[in-house]
Amino acid sequence: MKTIGLIGGMSWESTSLYYSLLNNEVKKLLGAPHSSKCLLYSVDFGEIAKLQHAGDWNALATLMIEAGQSLEKGGADFIVLCTNTMHKLADDIIKNTSIPFLHIADATAEAILSEKIKTVALLGTKFTMEEDFLINKLKKHGLSVIIPELEERNVIHRVIYEELVNGIVSDISRKKYLEIMNSLSLNGAEGFILGCTEIGMLINKENTNMKLFDTTEIHSKAAVIYSLSNLNDS
Ligand code: GLU
Repeated sequence: MKTIGLIGGMSWESTSLYYSLLNNEVKKLLGAPHSSKCLLYSVDFGEIAKLQHAGDWNALATLMIEAGQSLEKGGADFIVLCTNTMHKLADDIIKNTSIPFLHIADATAEAILSEKIKTVALLGTKFTMEEDFLINKLKKHGLSVIIPELEERNVIHRVIYEELVNGIVSDISRKKYLEIMNSLSLNGAEGFILGCTEIGMLINKENTNMKLFDTTEIHSKAAVIYSLSNLNDS
């Protein structure tokens, strides 16, 4: 089994979901008491969120590269960055490390295509929804991506940073998200990318019949499959 190098803590609420998902998936595939071999580099999200909102992506790149290099030195065989937003810096990490990087958008696109879905709505932070780093990757896989209106994007972003990353899950916010998703559905969305690793805490298949693609779940499962594959053995 390959050792997974997790860059986490963004937020720790979602990284703890990754940790459970990884271990449960290995248990499912190999049987108990097997568990995932992984290393976790967990950052201080207070520092990260502040730099994001100040637009200091250079400082963030330095932190992400440091995390990736530490994992590599520590013996990780590949890197899993446990946040969609910070994939804005995926190329910086890739260029400054020499182990494979398992991109969240590639894993997500594969899951969507396997369901024969073409048009998806993307829910995430404003960085993820409004910039092209994730959307372009998804488009390269042939997907059409739609995003919510500005007012709706503001609501989604606020709920992530003021509630979900702090472990607050509110019925009022769930209702707002579902309303936004309904209107995206009327605009042609066949499925929804929960493109922020905390959104699954708020929206899951118990709340809606709409087709959901939870990036935390998809990315964790892809990491386990990769950790058990021989594809990259030298
Ligand atoms: N975990 C979130 C994401 O997947 C947001 C936190 C962050 O900015 O990294 O985008």
